[in-house]
Amino acid sequence: MASASTNDLVKLSAADMAEKLKAGEVSSKELTQAHLNVIDSAEPSIQAFLKVAGDTALEQAEDSDKRRAAGEKLPELAGVPIAVKDMIVTKGIETTAASKILEGWVPPYDATVVSKLKKAGMPILGKTNLDEFAQGSSTEHSAYHPTNNPWDTDRVPGGSGGGSAAAVASFEAPLALGTDTGGSIRQPGALTGTVGVKPTYGGVSRFGAIAMASSLDQIGPVSRTVLDSALLHEIIGGYDERDSTSIPEQLPAIVKAAREGTKRDLKGMKIGVVKEISGEGFQPGVQARFDESLKLLEEMGAQIVDVSAPHFPYSLGAYYIIMPSEVSSNLARYDGMRYGLRVMPPAGVAQTAANMMAYTREAGFGDEVKRRIILGTYALSAGYYDAWYGSAQKVRTLIIRDFAAAFEKVDVLVSPTSPTTAFKFGEQINDPLTMYLNDVATIPANLGGVPAMSIPAGLSDDGLPVGFQFFAPQKRDDVMYKPAAALEAALNDKWKAPIWSELKTPWLDSANQTVEE
Ligand code: GLN
Repeated sequence: MASASTNDLVKLSAADMAEKLKAGEVSSKELTQAHLNVIDSAEPSIQAFLKVAGDTALEQAEDSDKRRAAGEKLPELAGVPIAVKDMIVTKGIETTAASKILEGWVPPYDATVVSKLKKAGMPILGKTNLDEFAQGSSTEHSAYHPTNNPWDTDRVPGGSGGGSAAAVASFEAPLALGTDTGGSIRQPGALTGTVGVKPTYGGVSRFGAIAMASSLDQIGPVSRTVLDSALLHEIIGGYDERDSTSIPEQLPAIVKAAREGTKRDLKGMKIGVVKEISGEGFQPGVQARFDESLKLLEEMGAQIVDVSAPHFPYSLGAYYIIMPSEVSSNLARYDGMRYGLRVMPPAGVAQTAANMMAYTREAGFGDEVKRRIILGTYALSAGYYDAWYGSAQKVRTLIIRDFAAAFEKVDVLVSPTSPTTAFKFGEQINDPLTMYLNDVATIPANLGGVPAMSIPAGLSDDGLPVGFQFFAPQKRDDVMYKPAAALEAALNDKWKAPIWSELKTPWLDSANQTVEE
């Protein structure tokens, strides 16, 4: 069997890796080993993973190779390895949500999306880092360690899914899964130059996703190309009877739409620029890349119009009432009785269940998680319920109506994904309100239940990636994949190559061993 250098292999798109697997030019075992080699040399500087599962990944790869050899009909991505955010449970592999309170917890079952990956023959490389319980925008709130942005290791990779984004950006993994409650797939996507998709609420099963705010949470793909996200989206999506919010209808034809997009013909498509989430407050370099992308979309035949979503400015306020309210309820299950950590009261303190819970939570939860539990408990308390939670729900309805009204006029909506490029460690961590502002443009999609995705739109003047966001109507995830794939192709042309050619990867040079059968 021909040998290939690790660098050549891991830099391919997942779709191209799949082609090589199909052609017998590489085995899943070789491909998985190549990524494990990169993980070995990259982790000291990137720290994207909380747990690497090398042995089981290689076993799964071997199994995938056997199934292919036996002639089993497998999906396109069969044999391509993937990293999974540690907010998603994996049977037999420790799952902590980056919290001390779940340290050592080994789930006895797989999330539906994980079962689907296994069925598809996709080896799981390991579990990626995140802000504790997916609460944050920089991954600095992980109870274990930060994750560094591959574009500049003094900067954050965004959050909460900074681990998945950094793993894909550093070529440690071709694909990853994330969770997006307010932007945790898309904002890290923007800050690391990766593609990140938040599917329609209910379009991908949440069974086995550790709950943060159940009415907002969605699992979705992370990749380096639009087509790769589309291929992964079709594997993880679809109805699941174990998720009561799962959509019974068939998924729309996502991969077909992404392939259609590469033809770069957007004639007849109407694209609405959301006035309220672009322009003022966005870093000039971010806005410049956004404006250039709009021009490219126009050149491909799309009609660009301004759209107003008058209630979007209230999204952040409504989110920071609704989300902590749900957090306070969902995280009540971590009581020292059932999962992970248990801290007994010290001698001299009554050894009651209530005291045990208090000591466990004090030791097990980090500051940001405690802040949100307190905020949510307050918002839901009898005397304040209507004033806070009730009002926020009314605002949510107005945002849903804004989306509905906008999609009467246009096919997709667009905005920059994040107001700034990647910021430095320590810059925002002590200022929660500034940190919360990272998600002004992503949160509306979660409140509205609509699909949205971020794709890299080039580099800002500071040499760091910028994200471009698309929103589509509910259950029409396909509609955003077409212009996203078209824009990606046009941008690659404009910059003469994907942004990845600009990324310096010293860790790859040391991983550049030859892999052989
Ligand atoms: N950054 C947002 C927050 O802190 C979004 C989190 C998420 O999507 N999980 O809540």
